[in-house]
Parts: sequence; C-alpha cells; structure tokens
Amino acid sequence: MTTLSQDVSTGGPTLPQEIRLRTEVPGPLSRELAARRSAAVSAAVGSSMPFYAATAGGGVVVDVDGNSYADLGSGIAVTTVGNADPAVAAAVAEQVARFTHTCFMITPYDSYVEVAERLNALTPGDFAKKTALFSTGAEAVENAVKVARAHTGRQAVVVFDHAYHGRTNLTMAMTAKNMPYKNGFGPFAPEVYRAPLSYPFRDGLDGPTAAARAIHTIEKQVGAANLAAVVLEPIQGEGGFIVPAPGFLPAIATWAKENGVVFVADEVQTGIARTGAAFASHLEGIEPDLVTIAKGVAGGLPLAAVTGRAEIMDAPVLGGLGGTYGGNPAACAAAIATLDTLEREDLPARARRVEGILFARLRALAARDPRIGDVRGRGAMVAVELVEPGTTTPDAALAKRIATDAAQHGVIVLTCGTDGNVLRFLPPLSIPDALLEQALDVLGTVFENAH
Ligand code: PMP
Repeated sequence: MTTLSQDVSTGGPTLPQEIRLRTEVPGPLSRELAARRSAAVSAAVGSSMPFYAATAGGGVVVDVDGNSYADLGSGIAVTTVGNADPAVAAAVAEQVARFTHTCFMITPYDSYVEVAERLNALTPGDFAKKTALFSTGAEAVENAVKVARAHTGRQAVVVFDHAYHGRTNLTMAMTAKNMPYKNGFGPFAPEVYRAPLSYPFRDGLDGPTAAARAIHTIEKQVGAANLAAVVLEPIQGEGGFIVPAPGFLPAIATWAKENGVVFVADEVQTGIARTGAAFASHLEGIEPDLVTIAKGVAGGLPLAAVTGRAEIMDAPVLGGLGGTYGGNPAACAAAIATLDTLEREDLPARARRVEGILFARLRALAARDPRIGDVRGRGAMVAVELVEPGTTTPDAALAKRIATDAAQHGVIVLTCGTDGNVLRFLPPLSIPDALLEQALDVLGTVFENAH
C-alpha cells in the first residue's frame, strides 16, 4: 500500500512554495501507483504527468514521493483561487457537516440561489439575468443549447474551427478535434455546423474581415432562420489559446443579435478572473445572451452554470433543466467562497500581473528561440505556439518534449492546440511571483536543451 511522505499531508498555501525534487520522476511510490492503475483503470483515461498528487496549494503540487512541482496548469484552468484554498476548504467542510445533498429539484437550499445571484451580477451585461447550475462544463454547454432551442424554436447550432466544448455526444459534435476526443465515438448529434475562426497567427485577417468570412459561411450553409445559437469561446482553450483579432467577436455578436440568434460565450476555461477580467467577454466588449461557466468557479469542486438573459433562461418548460447533482451544496459553498476571494483579493488584477510576468519572460525566450512562432493570450491564460523556424508548420513533437522535460525538472506545463504544438501556461493566481519566475527559469533551460 502506498503511504504518503510525512511532510506532505497538509495542503493549502502553507506548503513550501518551491521546486524540490527528492527522487527521480516518477518516484517509487508513483511507479507503484502506476502499476496498480494499469490493472484497474481504463487504458483510455490518460494523464499528462507521470506522478501522483499527495497535496497541493499556493503554486505547488507535491507528489506521493515528496517531490514539489511548480503548477503552471491548475488542473486545466480550475484552481484559479489556488488548490485547497483555506476559504474554500472551510466552506466545504462546514457545508458537508450540515448536509451533503438534498437535490435542488427536491428540497432546495439557499446557497444555490446565492450562486445564481452572484453569477447574474458578475457576468457581462446590465440586463435581467437568470442562472441554472450543473456539474461539468460539457453539461453547461449542452444546456445552453437546450435553452437556445427552446427560446428560438430553431435547431441549428454554429461552432467554430478549433473549438472545444466537451466530450458528451452533443459537445463531441461541437468539438472540432477528432483525435482523441471523437475518434470512433460517432454517430454525433446532428444540426451542428462549423464556421471559420479568426486565427491571427495563421490567417493574418483583421477581426471584421474574419467575421465577415464566418458570417458568409453561416448564411450560405445554415441560414439565420434555422439557427438557434452561435457558441464561441472568447479565447479558444484546448484549440490553442487562440485570441481572435480585435473586432471579430463583436461583429459575430452583433450579427447574432440582428438575426434573433442566441449568442453563447463558452467561458468554461476563460471565466472567473482567468484572463484578467471576471470574464473574457468583458475584455472584448461583448454582452453574450448566455455564458457557460465551470472550471474556476468553485475552486476545484464540480460546479457549472449557464447564466444569461432572463427571458431566454426561462424559455424551457418547467422541469426541463436540472440533474441530480446540479448545484450540489458543497460545490455551491465552494463557489461562494471562490467568488468572495475573487472580489476580496481582486483576482482579475492578479491575473493581469501574472500576464505581465509571463509575456515578459516568454517574449524574451521567443526572441532567442525561433521555434516559438507566437506568444499570445490574456491574463493567466498565455501560450506559445511552436513551429519549424521561419514557417508556421506546427512542431508538436517539440511541445511534447518540452512538457515532458519540464516535468522532469519540477514544472507542470500542459500542451494544447489542434496540432498539439502549443504550450499553455495557466498558473493558479495564488502562485507567488518568485515561484513563477523560477518555473520560467526552468522552462528557459528546458528550451535551450531541447534539440
Ligand atoms: N468548454 C470549454 C471551453 C472547455 O475548455 C472545456 C474543458 N476543457 C469544456 C467546455 C468541457 O468542460 P468539462 O470538462 O468540465 O466537461
């Protein structure tokens, strides 16, 4: 049986904020767990890192062998307030001691209502809003589509190249990338259409021109009269941290409004202070009809939401939205604590500071290393796109090698992108500046040594 190292039993920000390797990576206890896992866990479930977590907090993840890693991934953009944030941990402990579950559809409770009120106030747009709570990002996206269809009486849904919206049947259809998300899993849900995105590094188009191209595709291939919703990530996450050219999102949102199409911003990855504002839509000057929210909203507990115009959210029949665990009380308690921390500690400002550090260091690295074709992103959601020098030809092998080597040297970095050639940086906002700088030093060395 695996036993944890003595000094790694308490998580939270009190953990030493350092990169510290005590064993080879993975260490013996992680290797023991890997052997048990290969016998017990479906081989179809992957893990990017070869080591097993024992505790985490601030900006580190500590593994079962006592190795401490700088966390530049936040469990895929989830632990924005930090892992084991004391306020979140206390709120959850207090809630589960009172009750763990009643089901909001059976016996409702106040924290669900409070989360709805808070999200209605926090999302962009000064109009009457309502919220429904779920457990996962994919579930939020599915429900946004259900709401849009109920409201419009139309069926078609438009999504974009490079989009990622989840792994359920409808959201697989909405996700662009086949391998590994969709491969062999069809048939997929019908009435999902794909439009071209704005991808400045690759298409060189300005925002209005890219939007006109997308709108032309939509009008010719779908027709506004058939279209319930346009669903769009303000900054594409899994697709490669693609920031559309200025003006692209407002032009699509305006076209949707003029045509009675529900504009859905999928802010599952970009939301909750990650990009330097409460929502990335704020930075683009758009007011989506519906916003999908998950990941960062509950400090690591599973909670998701659809928030938007009251008249649209009220469109489905009574009982049409719900789910056994949607808005679970422990997750709602975590969300209230997370939103309190966001306001108290001005997390959007913290994300902008992290952006400054990441951009300064990564642009300096790009100036020295021609394999970095683009540095982009916002707030604590920044990426480098790796290419063959002097071209835009993706270099996925290099991205994989850098992420693997970084882990060997104590830094957790994730990859993304349709071509798998993007390294993305998503540190928790609780990471100390010194640790972030140290992690970027390690990354610089890893780049120098990667041939
Ligand atoms: N939408 C976006 C933009 C996402 O980034 C993700 C997850 N990466 C999802 C939806 C799906 O969320 P979940 O994994 O919680 O279902």
